[in-house]
Amino acid sequence: MKYIGAHVSAAGGVANAPLRAREIGAQAFAFFTKNQRQWHSKALSEEEIAAFKKNLADCGFKPEHILPHDSYLINLAHPEIDKRQKSLAAFIDELQRCEQLGLTKLNFHPGSTLKKISDEEGLSLVAQALNTALAKTTNVTAVIENTAGQGSNLGHRFEHLKAIIDQVDDKTRVGVCLDTCHTFAAGYDLRTPETYAQTMQEFDRVVGFSYLKGMHLNDAKSTFASHVDRHHSLGQGNLGIEPFRLLMRDPRLDNIPLILETIDDKLWAEEISLLYSLI
Ligand SMILES: [Zn+2]
Ligand SMILES: [Zn+2]
Repeated sequence: MKYIGAHVSAAGGVANAPLRAREIGAQAFAFFTKNQRQWHSKALSEEEIAAFKKNLADCGFKPEHILPHDSYLINLAHPEIDKRQKSLAAFIDELQRCEQLGLTKLNFHPGSTLKKISDEEGLSLVAQALNTALAKTTNVTAVIENTAGQGSNLGHRFEHLKAIIDQVDDKTRVGVCLDTCHTFAAGYDLRTPETYAQTMQEFDRVVGFSYLKGMHLNDAKSTFASHVDRHHSLGQGNLGIEPFRLLMRDPRLDNIPLILETIDDKLWAEEISLLYSLI
C-alpha cells in the first residue's frame, strides 16, 4: 500500500495540518511543528496536542505516515561550537514536539560545513548531535534527507548518509528520506527504468532499504547533476512522469510516507490522484 500526501501548512495551529491533508485526498502528510524560519516558538499547549491527536485519528491517519520536517535554520554540522549547540538545542526541541504529538519521525537536512571543515568532520558532528538528541527522547526516529548538494551542504552522496548512520549508536532510531529532486540534482538519474534501477540498487548497496523511512516526490527545475535545489510540479520539470510511475510500482516504497513538496499547492489534490492512478 502506498501512502501519498503533501507537506501541508500548519497555519493557525498544528491541529489544522491533518484537516488540510484530508482535503486534498492525502493518506500521509508532512508539516512543520513550529515556524520553520524562527529559532524560538512557544511550547505546544495541552489543548493543541489533544486537538492534533483527535484530528489525526478522525481523519484516519496513522502516526507512522506523518513525516514532520525540522526548521531550515538548524545546522548540526556547523563548524562553530556555539552555533552548533544552538542548532542541537533546537533539534532536541523539534524531536520533543514530535513526541508530544504522538509522532515517530522527524525529517531533517544533515547540514552544511560552510567550507570551514571537511565533509568527514561535518558528518561526524551530525552523528554526534544525533547521539545526544536521541538520548534525550525515547521513540522518535531521526530521518536524514538526502540533498542536492548545493553550496557546502552535506548529504548529496549516499555515502554521506551511510557515514552518519555508521556513527549513530542506536541504529533503530535513524533512517533516511530520499527526495527525488535532490537525488536527481545530486547526480543519481531516475528518468528511465534502467537508471531508476541502477540508482535504487546503489542506494540499497550503500545505505540499505531497511533505513528508508520516507520519500519526497518532487519534479525538478534543476538539471541533472547540477547540485541546484529547485522543485517543480510533477511532470513539468526535468524528471518528467516516468520516475513517478516507476516509484509507484516499486514495492520497496510500500507503507512509508511519500510526500509532495511540489511548488503549486493548488495542484496537490490532482498530483495525489495522478500518483495513485499510476500504481
Ligand atoms: Zn527537506
Ligand atoms: Zn525534500
